[in-house]
Amino acid sequence: MPPANRTNPTRAKSSDSRVSLMEFMREFPDDEACLVHVWRTRYSEDGVHAECPKCEQVRSFKRYATAKRRQAWTCTGCGHHVHPTAGTIFHKSSTSLHLWFYAVYFMASTRCGVSAKQLEREIGCNYKTALRMFHRIREYLMDEDGPQLSGSVEADETYIGPRRIKEGERRALSAQGIPNRGPATKDRDVVFAAVERQGRIRVSVIGTSQTQGSNAVAVRAKVSEFVAPRSTLYTDEYGAYAALARYYDHRTINHSQRVYVSGETHTQTVDGFFALMKNAIRGVHHGVSRQWLQGYCNEYAFRWNYREDGNAMFRRLIENAARPV
Ligand SMILES: [Zn+2]
Repeated sequence: MPPANRTNPTRAKSSDSRVSLMEFMREFPDDEACLVHVWRTRYSEDGVHAECPKCEQVRSFKRYATAKRRQAWTCTGCGHHVHPTAGTIFHKSSTSLHLWFYAVYFMASTRCGVSAKQLEREIGCNYKTALRMFHRIREYLMDEDGPQLSGSVEADETYIGPRRIKEGERRALSAQGIPNRGPATKDRDVVFAAVERQGRIRVSVIGTSQTQGSNAVAVRAKVSEFVAPRSTLYTDEYGAYAALARYYDHRTINHSQRVYVSGETHTQTVDGFFALMKNAIRGVHHGVSRQWLQGYCNEYAFRWNYREDGNAMFRRLIENAARPV
């Protein structure tokens, strides 16, 4: 075996990594490389020819060096400027493209997620900037529709957020002079998920524990949106699902009778996802606010859908980064 070339590190075959930091840096060494990537993904496959909106035909474009380092390509026919980042999450951001791409790489290279605090330390920005970058990545790059789920699909809902304490406990606390606020009076969010066994997942915030009445309606709407008709649908005995039996082959597991698995009938896959997501929120993010919860749902659904391949996850994210928001 030839000795390893230390000046050109390669990823070990046995490494779990799919894109190493060195590979990322080789492919995206600076801002310009990232800009070219957005330009090619969004407008010009070969990097030269693109449809000019002014000439209304395919023209060749040139990247002129300007004093202001304009992030634009110029139509050689009419002089029209095309700014590849216009309308994307990078639009008008004072953070460099290279740092944005690194933030995406950083997210894709971790399994369970990473805190904005860690990004702040990695790239030397302030915490607010790091948090905003991650929120935008979750909200826009990790938001994927895809075709409806089909085959064997499990659906379930869960509560996320502070646990409501029981009335008796709450009274005991106030008797001790502990004020009636915090978790006792807080409301929890309801998150719905549907997952194909061995396949993809869709996750959505549907309401709060204060909107019980409308949650059943929301659950049914989400099932119809996410799951193709005539799929086999596995759920618990929650009444909201009963009305769906007309459109699906509906199988119910009776959790209230403490039955969790009965042959093929169970919701272990979707419950496994909820456990993962809750652990991550607790361990990495230490709780999330209602405003950003859908973003975290997007993130963990995205991770689930690309769990086999970290490179595919990174590729898909930077491809999504080139689309306007
Ligand atoms: Zn033109």
